Amino acid sequence: MNIARKPEWLQKRINPAAHAAMEGLLGELHLHTVCQEARCPNITECFRERQATFLILGADCTRLCSFCNVTKRTPLPPDSTEPARVAEAVFRLGLSHVVITSPTRDDLPDGGAGHYAETVAAIRSAAPATKVELLIPDFLGSSESLARVVASAPAIIGHNVETVPRLYDIRAGGEYGRSLRVLRMLGELAPAVRSKSGIMLGLGETEDEVLTVFADLRAAGCSYLGIGQYLAPSRQHHPVREFIRPELFEKYRITALSMGFAHVESGPYVRSSYHAARYDGAP
Ligand code: SF4
Repeated sequence: MNIARKPEWLQKRINPAAHAAMEGLLGELHLHTVCQEARCPNITECFRERQATFLILGADCTRLCSFCNVTKRTPLPPDSTEPARVAEAVFRLGLSHVVITSPTRDDLPDGGAGHYAETVAAIRSAAPATKVELLIPDFLGSSESLARVVASAPAIIGHNVETVPRLYDIRAGGEYGRSLRVLRMLGELAPAVRSKSGIMLGLGETEDEVLTVFADLRAAGCSYLGIGQYLAPSRQHHPVREFIRPELFEKYRITALSMGFAHVESGPYVRSSYHAARYDGAP
């Protein structure tokens, strides 16, 4: 079943005219954002507020998740000038909190961990007061890659489980157990760094399955949780099975907090990076 018509609580408008300033800066610095590549429905709101989530290591992915709009293509080698360009954008935008993510780069020996670390270092040099949050792939579970990222000392490290284990066929190359191990290893490597995860709803999961994921994440030491509605980027992507009502998102938020998460954002338009500073106490 493919549900084409969105309900009244999912009618956010995209206004490309409001994106010009951000797109000018991103184009000048030759940077990618997940806001653009993933066709995020929050792009007008975020770009108006000069917020963006930078997509480092190129815009091509080595995996092909059926929910994701990032292109599967043989990626280019990492660009050594990219960390400085991201740092310049962070400085020029005056960001107090920035989220950095990447496609999955299974082609690289370290999965791109070194490039993440160089990007954190460049931002720290150009904008020392900016809190850096990394949203990382699973690095095929490599503890060396995770240690490299942790050593760069970001404020928050996120890794999304995305959905319940029964539906992991939409996450080509991903493994639920490995994602939990990544979160657990992050806690062991850097007990002071908050870890974060995210799950999309509306893919056909049940409430019991969602609550089991919450429990698994807590057992893996995850502190922060984002819960949002899956929206198919196109008709070729995995279809939406259900539009989750705002009341159920609120129920999940309250339940997750009662299970020990330090902060939970839950709502139809929540994405990993949406209002990211709030997890760390910003209003
Ligand atoms: S929610 Fe995140 S990905 Fe979406 S537009 Fe905002 S910053 Fe970009």
